[in-house]
Formats: sequence, structure tokens, C-alpha cells
Amino acid sequence: MKNIVVFLGAPGAGKGTAAAAVAARTGARHVSTGAMLRDAVARGTPAGLEAKGHMESGGLVPDEVLYRMIAELLAETPDPATLFFDGFPRNEAQAEKLEQLAAESGATVASALLLDVSREALLERLGGRRVCPKCGAGFHVKSLPPKVDGVCDACGAALVVRADDRPETIAHRLEVYESATAPVIGFYERAGKLRRVDASGSAAEVAALVEAEVSR
Ligand SMILES: [Zn+2]
Repeated sequence: MKNIVVFLGAPGAGKGTAAAAVAARTGARHVSTGAMLRDAVARGTPAGLEAKGHMESGGLVPDEVLYRMIAELLAETPDPATLFFDGFPRNEAQAEKLEQLAAESGATVASALLLDVSREALLERLGGRRVCPKCGAGFHVKSLPPKVDGVCDACGAALVVRADDRPETIAHRLEVYESATAPVIGFYERAGKLRRVDASGSAAEVAALVEAEVSR
């Protein structure tokens, strides 16, 4: 059996971090949409070549191409397997399509894990991020502070706030998430597949709760 576990959560909830950590411990395959795209393009799969064309002309990759890419990935994944989907589905239409794609390749969407964090905690997490513009090192004013305030530990450059992490952008990202993804939560709730995980703790605590949930 190929079991798909969908990771849901707002920006800053730690989906990618938790999915990667638990995949490494359990042998599950972590499928982040961005990495899947880059990999399909790099390997030159049929869907990858099509996506490349759209990306080179500056456009978004259409859902139809993404769906073919997921079908390719499910077909090439040996049975049995557990796949953690991180970044897909992003809306209800994609969630419905995933059920169909899974059924066509002998897979099942076993559950959807919602990493639950309060809005205040998300704002603190996202707003506290600092990056080094020179070497790319990442810091956080609370959870991962540099040794000297505002200075990169690795190379000494002055740290900056990414455009994505400025307060007005954060508010917009959370609104986009609320409007597009809330229906996806409802979709899995109606299907009896939604599992809520308290994601307010540290990355290690969240990973432990996620692991317990997917190992049931
Ligand atoms: Zn640096």
C-alpha cells in the first residue's frame, strides 16, 4: 500500500521542518511541491519538461502539469511506501484531484495533519526571522539568536528581514492561507481524515507529536 499523509498548516507552522524530520526517522518519503518540481525538471520527465517551458517563459506551472507530475511520482514510488505531501493540496479542487490521482495509482490519502499554531505565535515566529544577505545563514531573534545582535555568526555581515517576513507581508500571507486553505481543512474533516497536531512547541516537540500521529 502507498499511503499519502498531507501536511497542512499556516506559513510558519513548521510543516516542512516537521515533515523532513519525521521522514528521516521513519523512512517516509518527503514530497515538497517545490523540490518535486525542481527534481522533475532536472530529470527531464515528460511533466518536468512541460513545467520547464512554463517556468522559462516566466509563467506559473499550471495545475494540470502539477497533477501529471504527481501521477509520475506515485507511479515510480515502489510499494509499500508512505509519502508526506508538503505544499499540496493548496485548495479544495487540488484536494479532490489528489484523491483521484491516488486511486489511479493504487495509493490512498490516509490522513491530513493540521499543524495548529495560534496567530500570535505565527506572527512571532515569522516576524523574528533574520537572514544573512551574504552567506544565506538563517537566525531567529528568539529561538535561534546570533551571538551578536543583528550580526551573522558565520561571516559577520549585517542581518536583514526578508521581504516575505515583513509585518504587512506576513499579514497578507496569512490571509491568503486562510482563504485558500481553510476549505481544504473542511474537505478532510468531512472525509474523517483530519488530525490536529499542536504545533506551538519547539521543532523537536512538534516532530515527536507528528511522528506519534503518523505511526498510529
Ligand atoms: Zn553570513
